Amino acid sequence: MRAYKDYFRKDIQSMTGYTPGEQPKMERLIKLNTNENPYPPSPKVFEAARSLDCERLRRYPDPLADHLCSAIAELNGCSREQVMAANGSDDVFTIFFRAFVDANHPAAALEPTYSLYKVLAAAQGAKVMPIPLNPEDFSLPEDLAGFTRGANVCIFARPNAPTGNTYDKEIIRRFAENFDGIVMVDEAYADFAADNCMDLALSMPNVLVSRTSSKSYSLAGLRFGYVVGNARLIHGMLKLKDSYNLDRIAQTLAEAAVRDVEYRKSVVAKVLAGRAKLTADLKALGFRVIDSAANFVFAAPPDDDGEKYFRALRDHAIIVRYFPGAVTGKFVRITVGTPEEMRIFIETTQAIYRK
Ligand SMILES: *Cc1c(COP(=O)(O)O)cnc(C)c1O
Repeated sequence: MRAYKDYFRKDIQSMTGYTPGEQPKMERLIKLNTNENPYPPSPKVFEAARSLDCERLRRYPDPLADHLCSAIAELNGCSREQVMAANGSDDVFTIFFRAFVDANHPAAALEPTYSLYKVLAAAQGAKVMPIPLNPEDFSLPEDLAGFTRGANVCIFARPNAPTGNTYDKEIIRRFAENFDGIVMVDEAYADFAADNCMDLALSMPNVLVSRTSSKSYSLAGLRFGYVVGNARLIHGMLKLKDSYNLDRIAQTLAEAAVRDVEYRKSVVAKVLAGRAKLTADLKALGFRVIDSAANFVFAAPPDDDGEKYFRALRDHAIIVRYFPGAVTGKFVRITVGTPEEMRIFIETTQAIYRK
């Protein structure tokens, strides 16, 4: 018999895959580690699910998800040609990196930021040029142009993850005007923030904005995201997407969710109230909390030992996210849960630091 031999491309052989946040099987766990929404999806999604006709699953779905994309276009006040729907915003980024990034077309991104970008760059044989954030408050450095010189794309998660903070939109606009490449704004958390960059994507030829249903829509399990921007950019990216990247069920349920703006607003309001309380409670316990514009907070315990805190919470069946590293390792990232979850979380934290 022939022995196993590696035929992988060197790029793939040497890269590390993305590590998703843990999805534990344990019951009775308070899960605050992947920024899911603690509230259910819109009742309109339940209704749409009840009226699904499984007989129709015999047929392939609409490759361009026309009805869904029309709803997205209506929501954002743009044309159908400025929208591409995808299987989660991770699918948007996979397509984006394949389209714009390779060994000769580097990407630039904030450091720290969403770690998926590095994985997708590595798969293209490309490096990500880091834009180092201020280690105190994770604000942008002055010399954005210097850190991104020669990059073909620059990705801004805004609000950023895992840090949760946002930064001046005017800086992004000015940067995009002068940058010789594509600016991708990852707006996974924009519904929890005071503003967003959608108008830049609709007016500037080199700005794309991506959104997801995973956070504010309470639909992480559905896998739906989209990107908006100049029709020529969208047209080019469509060439690379899987023909049927959104199944029939996802298209139907996502459309119901997109159209229910009122429900989404009410859920976001509850999360924002939870975020304000969580921030105040942690500060009262001596934590350093980064100002959050998202549905989570990035907080450092009084002794700056994020890992110890992460492990102590785990022993009490509370899961948050810990990011090792000289700067990020002082913190943990805590998703805003229900008031009841937050009550237990704060009581547990008090007990941990009373010892
Ligand atoms: C959660 C998250 C996403 C969402 O990814 P999906 O594939 O849509 O679930 C995208 N970007 C950032 C920064 C995130 O934190």
